[in-house]
Amino acid sequence: MTTTSEASRYQQLRDHLTYLRLADAAEALPAVLDEAKAGQHSITATLEQLLRIEVQATETRRLAGRLRFANLPTPATLEDFDYDAQPGIDPDLIRDLASGRYLDTATNILLIGPPGVGKTMLAVGLARKVAEAGHRTYFTNAADLVARCHRAAIEGRWATTMRFYAGPAALVIDELGYLPLPAEAASSLFQVVNQRYLKSSIILTTNRPVTEWGQVLGDNTVAAALLDRLLHRSVVIDITGDSYRLRDHQARTDNLRRATQPSSATIPRSPDGQFR
Ligand code: ADP
Ligand code: MG
Repeated sequence: MTTTSEASRYQQLRDHLTYLRLADAAEALPAVLDEAKAGQHSITATLEQLLRIEVQATETRRLAGRLRFANLPTPATLEDFDYDAQPGIDPDLIRDLASGRYLDTATNILLIGPPGVGKTMLAVGLARKVAEAGHRTYFTNAADLVARCHRAAIEGRWATTMRFYAGPAALVIDELGYLPLPAEAASSLFQVVNQRYLKSSIILTTNRPVTEWGQVLGDNTVAAALLDRLLHRSVVIDITGDSYRLRDHQARTDNLRRATQPSSATIPRSPDGQFR
């Protein structure tokens, strides 16, 4: 039986939830109260259930916000990474990195290897873990970072831009070495790396061995100083395996060939076993 005072109490409770912007709890309130009555749940259990609904909704919203901010270029996850295709990569190491412990010591992660071996995929997967763990992460590539710093310098927004790149717990800098960089690139990259040094992590991917970075940045001294900071506390993952892209491509062309050509048994061979 619902008395008038109980009805107005209920209304007040809903108003409180709305006033406090606990919209999901407000919406769930009738169902939670019905369930509590039917199941004779304790007051503690009922309040916990109501607030859990709000906490879960808030977590989901915040994660979505962090992922929007993160600017990840693909939906790749570490769970999708095929270790059999890249036997040089230690799954235990990636699992350890996925835990995000490296963030506590501002350790950097360097992924070095030729195109197509999964550097960007691993960087995206690791960044996603960072966001899921509740930290801020931001994905960019070296050319964009340098271009943005250049514009910032021209437009008098240098300090703001440096603060932006200092902010995330993990900053991904993808594709160092792919595109030729302008003259001021070395200095911009150095300043971004230097201000994060020992404070927050960088995940960097490159197709060029560190011995060539002087050439990549067009300045041996700055490259040495940059590497000094980047490598001081770092995990370097050298990927030497085959390109996954080409492997995929190879498999597709093989399939196509098999589908469009007669089987080898029907292809006439010359006496030395060679196809004619
Ligand atoms: P890189 O950045 O080293 O050039 P990518 O990470 O862009 O290479 O990988 C190229 C493509 O191959 C992407 O679509 C990626 O998802 C896929 N790929 C690469 N390595 C693997 C892997 N070990 N398992 C699953 N997919 C992979
Ligand atoms: Mg890449």
